[in-house]
Amino acid sequence: MIDLNKDIKYIKGVGPNRATLLNKLGIYNLKDLITYFPREHEDRGKAKGIAELEDGEEALICAYPVARMNEIRIRGNLTLCKLIVRDETGTMQITWYNQSYLKNTFKPNERYKFFGKVSKKYGKVEMQSPVYETENSNRNTGKIIPIYPLTYSLTQNTIRKIIESGLNEIDGKLEETLPKYILDKYNLYDYNTAIRQIHFPDNFANFNLAKKRLVFEELFSMQLALLSLKNKYEIKKPGIEFSKDAKMSDVIDILPFKPTGAQRRVLEEIDRDMESNKPMNRLLQGDVGSGKTVVALIAAYKAVKSGYQAVIMAPTAILATQHLETFNDILKDSGIKCELLISGISKKKKTEMLERLEKGEIDILIGTHAVLEDNVKFNKLGLVVTDEQHRFGVRQRSIIVEKGNNPDVLVMTATPIPRTLALILYGDLDISIIDELPPNRKKIETYAVTKGMEQRVNNFIVKNVQEGRQCYVVCPLVEENEEIDAKSVMEIYETYKKQIFPDLRVEYLHGKMKQKEKDAIMEEFKNGNIDILISTTVIEVGVNVPNSNIMIIENAERFGLAQLHQLRGRVGRGEHQSYCILKYQGNSQIIRERMKVISSTNDGFVISEKDLELRGSGEFFGTKQHGIPEFKIANLFEDIGILKQVQGIAMEIIDHDPLLEKEENQPLRKLVDEKFKDRIEI
Ligand code: ADP
Ligand code: MG
Repeated sequence: MIDLNKDIKYIKGVGPNRATLLNKLGIYNLKDLITYFPREHEDRGKAKGIAELEDGEEALICAYPVARMNEIRIRGNLTLCKLIVRDETGTMQITWYNQSYLKNTFKPNERYKFFGKVSKKYGKVEMQSPVYETENSNRNTGKIIPIYPLTYSLTQNTIRKIIESGLNEIDGKLEETLPKYILDKYNLYDYNTAIRQIHFPDNFANFNLAKKRLVFEELFSMQLALLSLKNKYEIKKPGIEFSKDAKMSDVIDILPFKPTGAQRRVLEEIDRDMESNKPMNRLLQGDVGSGKTVVALIAAYKAVKSGYQAVIMAPTAILATQHLETFNDILKDSGIKCELLISGISKKKKTEMLERLEKGEIDILIGTHAVLEDNVKFNKLGLVVTDEQHRFGVRQRSIIVEKGNNPDVLVMTATPIPRTLALILYGDLDISIIDELPPNRKKIETYAVTKGMEQRVNNFIVKNVQEGRQCYVVCPLVEENEEIDAKSVMEIYETYKKQIFPDLRVEYLHGKMKQKEKDAIMEEFKNGNIDILISTTVIEVGVNVPNSNIMIIENAERFGLAQLHQLRGRVGRGEHQSYCILKYQGNSQIIRERMKVISSTNDGFVISEKDLELRGSGEFFGTKQHGIPEFKIANLFEDIGILKQVQGIAMEIIDHDPLLEKEENQPLRKLVDEKFKDRIEI
């Protein structure tokens, strides 16, 4: 048996110094080493004739020096070494800077291989600082060579040697990680072949097969882990059976509007979960403005009427405050007690609130991260709702869940994610989707404009304000920054207030302000006492001011599509025709493409698909907000085909063998356990 945990410093060619460097790359043991995958490969397989070389290409040649190396002092201590080489087809010059020690390396009339970037100007062919070795050596040329992502002072050469000795140590004796029936059915390389060929492929076809197998395994085990996690929740001790007598319809009847069909359907799904004895773990996806808040409210109502407490966790104080208002408004005659817990409330008030919470005198607690604190204890917590889930991590969700005894959980998000990806991000949750907006919503008209339109935009703002409307302006920065060419809140505020709109009521809002100040400004805006509110993306989530109908976004090119869509969702919430104006600079194809997408559709799902396509999953998930695991080799965008395939396979397996107990699935059991160990924080 091979010990994959063997410390890297005992691998041939490593030693303590190199071990430290490898550690910095996250390589601690043999397993880390062989799964440190190359960034790309270079084809140094076949030498080309000098006469066939093309400008700019990377190529291998096999040639002999026509004379000894020539060293020229250029200036100061800069020297240039020149070597003229020849093969059957032609002659070329090879140069190095400051490498005097090479002087006696190359013997005339012996053949060497050189690999490097070719420059060809006026018929003169040159190569600078190429990789070289003697004709018969095959370490760095003569084959497809892996190039590793490296930092610090390790060279490609060194890591290549180390990985090679790691692979030699293993000598094809790695234990297979996938069941044989899967390898056979889907035509996958066995593990040993895949690992060898991913590093040192015999040809590119083999490399692709190796990559396919490893991507398959990575996505497959992730998906299996998530699905079996879901099973675990369900099989775990029973959850709460909320009362059938606590009727959702009682609140629905007192709402100021009729729920949409989508809201009704989602509520039925939640109702069913809540009444069953398995704990609910449900993700509610719904575009901005689709009406998720009342869904949460109705679920909370059911929990309270069944004798439990509910908690609603929102990412910002503004949003939490707004939720409290909505709840108090609708529940005012129901006898249900709601309270707000955000940081910044007085100590006295807080102590008193926490006491009442623990005694069960508060039914619904609405708050920010403050509700996660240790001293927040419930009497009988039955329902946990997190709003805008992408702002919270899995860990925070589990902290709040631990405050109850297996409570039901509803996770809400307005970041629509293509379904395939939702399965990877939230594979442990059931998914409900609100795919319909409340009636009579007018489509938000969206225009992408450049600087030349400034005056017209300003006139448009004035016209709407005169008609009684309000306007948001969002900037990427808080303050001016010399290094970043983008508009800031303070800069825009000054010019608007002093020059452009001296007669209008202009205010600003950003995350660096004190909570109290922010709340005060938001309150004023809500009450219609501010005409133009200039802000950072702090107003991105949730804020609801139906009278505002213009959203201006400065430097729109700096925001992701999904984020632009979120911001746009701040308007179009009332009866007024609303507008989103994207001011952008830059003329790249991709910027124009993105502006076109956002102007042409209001459908968050379409936008997120496009966002993914235009940016690739790397950036889409760049921020770890989503809590998405990092993949070693898979790329959710490029490998979407494999992802879909493994999702189908994983579901089928879990259907037949929910706990992966069958003999044939033991390798999968092991893979899943490993995932739990180092990836999923529960
Ligand atoms: P989001 O899903 O973005 O959180 P909200 O819950 O804030 O959306 O709802 C946006 C607005 O739509 C709120 O003013 C809310 O009162 C209103 N609303 C929700 N559902 C309906 C409905 N069925 N009919 C009319 N208005 C609705
Ligand atoms: Mg919301």
